[in-house]
Amino acid sequence: MRVLIATNNQDKIKEIKEVLDDFEFFSLDDLGIKSDPVEDANTYEGNARIKAEAAKVLCPEGYAVLADDSGLSVESLDGAPGLYSARYAGINGEHPTYKDNCDKLLAALKGEKNRKAYFESDIVMILPDGKTLHTVGVCEGKIATEPRGKNGFGYDPIFLPKAHDYKYTMAQLPEGGKNAISHRGIALKKLKDLLDL
Ligand code: IMP
Repeated sequence: MRVLIATNNQDKIKEIKEVLDDFEFFSLDDLGIKSDPVEDANTYEGNARIKAEAAKVLCPEGYAVLADDSGLSVESLDGAPGLYSARYAGINGEHPTYKDNCDKLLAALKGEKNRKAYFESDIVMILPDGKTLHTVGVCEGKIATEPRGKNGFGYDPIFLPKAHDYKYTMAQLPEGGKNAISHRGIALKKLKDLLDL
């Protein structure tokens, strides 16, 4: 099956391809599609649907479309940054760097003892016949006190997954190690099961 991944985030594309190796994948760029819809839903699922549906309208017939919406929720910050994870440290609507976001979160948690947090990924896939599948993956952990590691992206250098007893950050896990335990890896494996792959 030919699948358009409705994102410009190369890090997400890499992780998706690693798990769903049965498909022929295309990026928005590969198909010359410009799709950047307003993600104004109040859930990850809602935003993943917005991204998938916007790309589906623009992509050639016969393709499936897959979208991921994800973020990080910190318990002591009432779930922030949550849906605003990508824009957390943005000023005047500008897109912050991953480092800006990590620095802002570490500052917000300075001296805080409760560092519990979780990542969530919602995957929405629209099949060529219009049937829509939705899966969710959650990865529990804690926020570290300083960044460590070079792999992954986003908040990975400051996220200590529970699955590794909070010993390593997500960015310290070797190739393939993140997908084995991550929110996105879990959601993608559930999708594989739904598709009977
Ligand atoms: P989205 O592209 O609107 O789904 O925004 C996702 C944002 O959440 C990213 O820009 C990251 O800041 C954060 N995020 C989502 N998934 C991950 C992950 O696997 N590792 C680290 N940060 C993530």
